[in-house]
Amino acid sequence: MKVYINGQFFSKEDAKVSVYDHGLLYGDGVFEGIRVYHNKVFKLKEHVDRLYESAQTIMLKIPFSKEEMTAAVVEAVRQNPYEDAYIRLVVTRGVGSLGLDPNKCAKPQIIIIVDKITLYSSETYRRGMEIITVATRRNLQEALNPRIKSLNYLNNIMAKMEAIHAGFEEAIMLNQNGFVAECTGDNIFIVKEESLVTPSLENGFLDGITRRTVMDLAVGKGLRVVEKTLSRHDLYVADECFLTGTAAGVVPVVKIDGRTIGSGEPGKHTLELSRAYDQLTQKEGVPVPRTAKV
Ligand code: PMP
Repeated sequence: MKVYINGQFFSKEDAKVSVYDHGLLYGDGVFEGIRVYHNKVFKLKEHVDRLYESAQTIMLKIPFSKEEMTAAVVEAVRQNPYEDAYIRLVVTRGVGSLGLDPNKCAKPQIIIIVDKITLYSSETYRRGMEIITVATRRNLQEALNPRIKSLNYLNNIMAKMEAIHAGFEEAIMLNQNGFVAECTGDNIFIVKEESLVTPSLENGFLDGITRRTVMDLAVGKGLRVVEKTLSRHDLYVADECFLTGTAAGVVPVVKIDGRTIGSGEPGKHTLELSRAYDQLTQKEGVPVPRTAKV
């Protein structure tokens, strides 16, 4: 396995960064999680675009054009032997001094890890997941907008810990007004009376690329897609529920806070959208040129 750091490749053991990097010291940086399916990088443009948007808001000037970044990601995949993989693309503020001032960091660090990832068991996908609402609220948009995919994930980790402590794998996070925002690493959808419904952006969550993809697939299937403010009650009385994320894919949810959702089994539309998503991942993407080198 080879890890990309600032234009060079290192073995996993030698892939190291400075303890003075503000990514480590303060979580000052941005990142993306991207998938490779069938030797093609899925939704690469969307991920690169979101990375640059996150960087723009935190005033982090990435020293690469989007084209150069795209090429670096493809090269990082090419340097590794996996046809199916997870890419972690990280841009930190870089090495600085002790103290918050980002201007003391001379140069951002770019790190690309290509590895395997399995978030949940095949059993979870087959039977559906049971999730709970936790007390930890999603970050206030006016404080740290969840649309920035920053290296500071403590808000999500705190919520995830609550879920795990209670014996669950994933948590629903509400926003400051008590409405549904998202899960700790996934967006949330319900199906109600043949419509696909998901929280609208003003509810404060990461604008997921899988979310957008699944919404497009649903429109293509003739389903009505609605973005609106959702309460927990809306979730409890849904016909179906599922989560979406790059790493997790489409995850059926069958129980929320002890309430059985719909029939208690993964729903019809959930399964159809999950299948359509899987098919798309096998078809679309930026191909990785493989030569004799790998
Ligand atoms: N919400 C959060 C908090 C996330 O970290 C992620 C990504 N793991 C998502 C939603 C899903 O976003 P995407 O579909 O772009 O992976």
